[in-house]
Amino acid sequence: MFPHCKLKEEDIKAYLPTVTSSQVLASLYKPQPSFTDFLHFISPAARSVISEMRAQARIIKELHFGRAVRLYAPLYVSSYCINDCVYCAFKTSHKHARKRLSMDEIMSEAEIISGYGIKSLLLVSGEDPKAMSVDFLADAVRKLKEKFAYISIEIYPMDEASYRKLFEAGVHGLTIYQETYQEDIYKTLHLRGPKSDYHKRLEYMAGGAAAGFYNVGIGALLGLYDWHVEAVSLAAHGLWLRKKFWKTKVQFSFPRITPIPGGFAVPNAISEDDLEQLMLAFRLFFHESDLFISTRENHLFRQKVAQTCASHVSAGSQVVPGGYRDAEDRRQLLGQFTMNDRSSVADVDHDMSELGLEIVYKDWDNCIGV
Ligand code: SF4
Repeated sequence: MFPHCKLKEEDIKAYLPTVTSSQVLASLYKPQPSFTDFLHFISPAARSVISEMRAQARIIKELHFGRAVRLYAPLYVSSYCINDCVYCAFKTSHKHARKRLSMDEIMSEAEIISGYGIKSLLLVSGEDPKAMSVDFLADAVRKLKEKFAYISIEIYPMDEASYRKLFEAGVHGLTIYQETYQEDIYKTLHLRGPKSDYHKRLEYMAGGAAAGFYNVGIGALLGLYDWHVEAVSLAAHGLWLRKKFWKTKVQFSFPRITPIPGGFAVPNAISEDDLEQLMLAFRLFFHESDLFISTRENHLFRQKVAQTCASHVSAGSQVVPGGYRDAEDRRQLLGQFTMNDRSSVADVDHDMSELGLEIVYKDWDNCIGV
């Protein structure tokens, strides 16, 4: 469990089956749901009132976001990694061709993404500081700022001073996944490298907030452990960060394990219905928080959750370094995960607009500070 969570796993597992649909409905319409209400939303009984949960989540989302859905795209800059996470194609023990982009290649990829109209960029890399130094990344960000209004990072964790350097270069958001909040399970999944230290990993989200990032994104890799238990830890982590770093907005992502080359047997598979319930629960509890859904999920599912709970969706994504420009790289190199929505940005825009959603390419303007 997240170390600051007051609930124990056995208490959660004992309580959830006792929740009734009437309790879920009573929680649903409270202006400020409590943590107990959150437990009701993730309970098995909530499934019988899922249409009511959808309707209420939609009302809450429209109250805070209107019909807006923000689009963003990832730019993978390196597939080198020194960690050995058993569920990931980039793990160091996986012998395959890797690539790190030069500055020119980064800008070439950026040109294509920007050509789609995307103004919000997520820089992604495997975790290897030698392959992508902080200074190089800061230089890249300064150049990318000419094309993108908002830049966030999902790279290797670093100390506060390095985070500050990137913040000053123009990075405004940071995403780090704890992957699983179950410490004993964590140790069996992260075999080598700095990421094998559970508690150290957990410090970096706070380090990013302390360095000044306006947005800090967190998440658990869904499928590694019982999603109900992970949901409680993730929510508790979000509350803890929000309390300690009130100037920073906490965001939530919901990555679900997809197949990787060489295979990984998902220990606690989570269905699409489970994932929808989980995302609705977060919208019903964290009314104003940004909820992200990536191209790990299929087009129809993403359309569905964009109407009720998700505020940010990626579009037109490539998950290999150089993948936007180079079809050969797409064939030769491994992506970090298998994508289930390969729709173009234009198609995502078209299909979501048809549903009455308002597609937002730019929602950030840097008029104060760096
Ligand atoms: S999950 Fe991240 S740290 Fe782990 S192997 Fe993949 S890229 Fe490396």
